Amino acid sequence: MRDNDLFQLALGIQSPWFVASSGFDAEKRRLDIQLDFKAGSRFDCPDCKATGCPVHDTVDKTWRHLDFFHHQAFLTARTPRITCRQCGVRLVTVPWARPGSGFTLLFEGFAMALAIHLPIAVAAEQFLKITDKRLWRIVFHYVRAAVQRMDLSTVTRVCIDETAAKRGHDYITLVVDIDGRRVAFVADGRSADTVRQFADHLEERGGDASHIKQASIDMSRAFIAGVTENLTEAEITFDRFHVMKLIGDAVDEVRRAEVKSRPELRGTRYVWTKNEQNLTAKQSTVLDTLASTNLKTARAWRMRLSFQDIYAQPTREWGALFFDKWIGWAKRSRLEPMKAVARTMEKHRDGILAWFHSRSSNGLIEGINSLVQAAKAKARGYRNGETLKAVTYLVAGKLDLKLPT
Ligand SMILES: [Zn+2]
Repeated sequence: MRDNDLFQLALGIQSPWFVASSGFDAEKRRLDIQLDFKAGSRFDCPDCKATGCPVHDTVDKTWRHLDFFHHQAFLTARTPRITCRQCGVRLVTVPWARPGSGFTLLFEGFAMALAIHLPIAVAAEQFLKITDKRLWRIVFHYVRAAVQRMDLSTVTRVCIDETAAKRGHDYITLVVDIDGRRVAFVADGRSADTVRQFADHLEERGGDASHIKQASIDMSRAFIAGVTENLTEAEITFDRFHVMKLIGDAVDEVRRAEVKSRPELRGTRYVWTKNEQNLTAKQSTVLDTLASTNLKTARAWRMRLSFQDIYAQPTREWGALFFDKWIGWAKRSRLEPMKAVARTMEKHRDGILAWFHSRSSNGLIEGINSLVQAAKAKARGYRNGETLKAVTYLVAGKLDLKLPT
């Protein structure tokens, strides 16, 4: 068998295309395969799909293909521009590549397989020997196409949360399909409009905003307004994780005010705001020493523990009883930060107690956070709103990527 026939079979090239020649440069570690088409061939119009359009002229195009052993392989073709009666002169779409891509479909499929499992920069530079910018373009294409095809018809319970691409800027908002255990939507920003965008995104993919019965959010005004206006049938639950974080912040505020007169409180922030089972041995010792003292911080800390007990109650009614008692206690505490946080809690009473219906748990948020951390690691060195959105869908969207094989 001659080289050209072998390459033609291996590439799966079909008439009117054929392998015209091939050249191997051992020094450059490069294999070049030249493709051509039979004289007199006619092609489809890439725009209106009209068949049998005559060739106007040709342009040489080159695509990077899968490596030939450890040598880079390139296809080059005299690519016809046809004359279409409707559309005029058009460059044809070749069967081995997407329009505008410098890679063959098989190369892109392989690149995506690596992108799923490796940080993008590592996949690009160490394995594919292309710039990460070029790999990002491939990732964006396949992710966007798959997001376009997503089926969101079954979504009824969502959890909405935000994360920063980098510390303090480029916020993105994630909407998680709780039952599907997947990210259903990723958006720029964290405003009420973000929820409206989700409602649109949902309806463009077979879903229905009025089918959303539960929405778990933090207490930000933006998300409350967004859900109230756009997911009109949804009961709001204020996520337990965020509720406890606000109370932890209030405890820390008490500590920071007190540390001026009680230096032993210096550096003890996590002792009072982390759950006891997560403390280091050293932190536990500090807590044992300070917890039973008359420190204001210790008092605020006991209030935090007591608030946690609300969630351990067997029913919403018991939870409500504990909740109301707690609010009274906090308001009488003469600790300003605790009084302030009690007023916030009181204002959001229904949404906090809705937890007893929805049981939206910390576990889900933690699961999402670990996926977001994975996405951030994947976008390392090239992280902004766009890249983080794409890789979040890639690692957590359960996408059907329909990769070329
Ligand atoms: Zn046409």
